Amino acid sequence: MSSFDYDLFVIGGGSGGVRAARLTAGLGKRVAIAEEYRYGGTCVIRGCVPKKLFVYASQFPEQFEDSAGYGWTVGEARFDWQKLMMAKDREIARLEGLYRKGLETAGAEMLNTRAELTGPHSVRLVDSGKVVTAERILVAVGGSANPHAALPGYEHCITSNEAFHLETLPDSILIAGGGYIAVEFANIFHGLGVQTTLIYRGMQILSRFDHDMRQGLHEAMEAKGIRIILQDIIEEVTRTPAGGLLARTLHNETIAVDQVMLALGRDPNTSGLGLEAAGVAVNERGAIIVDDFSRTNVESIFAVGDVTDKVQLTPVAIHESMCFVETQYRGNPTSPDHHLIATAVFSQPEIGTVGLSEEDAAKKYPDIEVYRAQFRPMKATLSGRAERMIMKLIVNAGDRKVVGAHILGHDAGEMAQLLGITLKAGCTKEDFDRTMAVHPTAAEELVTMYTPSYRIRNGERV
Ligand code: NDP
Repeated sequence: MSSFDYDLFVIGGGSGGVRAARLTAGLGKRVAIAEEYRYGGTCVIRGCVPKKLFVYASQFPEQFEDSAGYGWTVGEARFDWQKLMMAKDREIARLEGLYRKGLETAGAEMLNTRAELTGPHSVRLVDSGKVVTAERILVAVGGSANPHAALPGYEHCITSNEAFHLETLPDSILIAGGGYIAVEFANIFHGLGVQTTLIYRGMQILSRFDHDMRQGLHEAMEAKGIRIILQDIIEEVTRTPAGGLLARTLHNETIAVDQVMLALGRDPNTSGLGLEAAGVAVNERGAIIVDDFSRTNVESIFAVGDVTDKVQLTPVAIHESMCFVETQYRGNPTSPDHHLIATAVFSQPEIGTVGLSEEDAAKKYPDIEVYRAQFRPMKATLSGRAERMIMKLIVNAGDRKVVGAHILGHDAGEMAQLLGITLKAGCTKEDFDRTMAVHPTAAEELVTMYTPSYRIRNGERV
């Protein structure tokens, strides 16, 4: 029996922390997990899950419209924001309950308090002031929305946190940023009938994505009526006597809106965590530095998920935790595999992607083939909706492997998950070609693009 209070102490009850605590407790270890807010973390409480519920809610107006082409007459549609909020809150509470139940069943001790490190093996429970010890400590405290405190008037703005709890749906909103959150919320608010403007500093939204996805989504969003301002930033936000907001931009435009939402990235939650006391090294962004096995520079302290600022995605945090448990408690050293992570942007239309963008592939390989299809999905024929799907496969001509797959359109996220398996398995273009199509689907395009649309040799399109 060790002299520590616990074998493992987990700080943070989000996706990464809960998985590690549950699995380790399930192995018969003495585990405690501390969470200062609600179990489930960003993903369940104020991220992926409520966001996706909002996405579903915001898609109905288009579906009502589309149904007309299929013979339906739908009566007057009305939307009740409060009703959606209550339903969403119920579902989140249910999921939080499941997280708690899983921990309880596994035998982990749940502590509803903030916890801070006081040394390599010790943690202070902030609510009681009690200090407890553990052989190993796992930091899984995640990240939080960058409040952009340098912006004059930032205190008038909301982030995604508050967007999940707005008392009323605004008539108009200005969203700053061009990443996942900005783009997803712009589509959500627009779908719910809010006059929506997106402002982004770069040349095109979604800077790290394939150019066809970026351009295609931009055009689709504008066609719906979302205003997108590029190469500009908000310089100041002021509140008017009437209670509205005025946002002044660098290029001297003044935009009057009900809400301004900042979606300018997320920062690791390490402030005041006691990392210095424990001697844990952080990088210039305050993220905990870990090696390939989630080890910090302090032998007994580990970190997973957004707090390490490697890849800010829920499945990545979960995977890192599973590898941590495998390595530390099952005697099977396993390093998280961050290569080829499939991901989706739940915009409308959606983006699903895995592997290299055309631009990155062209930098990495001397000769690539690009297979590209742009077409009207079958559902849009009768609905009359002027939407286009884009599908792209990027092939390294050297070894014929598909190194990138990108989809813009309905269910792109679902398709990306399956494409992820094929890229992970190292499938070649010929593997795709000899795969029978599922007909009639949009996805069949992925196995019927037989001829390259163009090649890029040594950076030159030919
Ligand atoms: P992102 O990193 O995706 O985007 C941040 C955006 O803010 C970028 O467009 C960036 O511009 C811009 N930006 C950053 N700093 C400034 C600044 N000072 N002034 C103006 N613009 C600025 O972060 P998000 O907040 O959208 O999302 C956080 C993370 O959460 C994502 O990285 C993602 O991994 C995860 N997430 C995943 C989702 C999913 O899987 N569907 C959904 C939501 C979030 P630039 O590009 O020029 O740097």
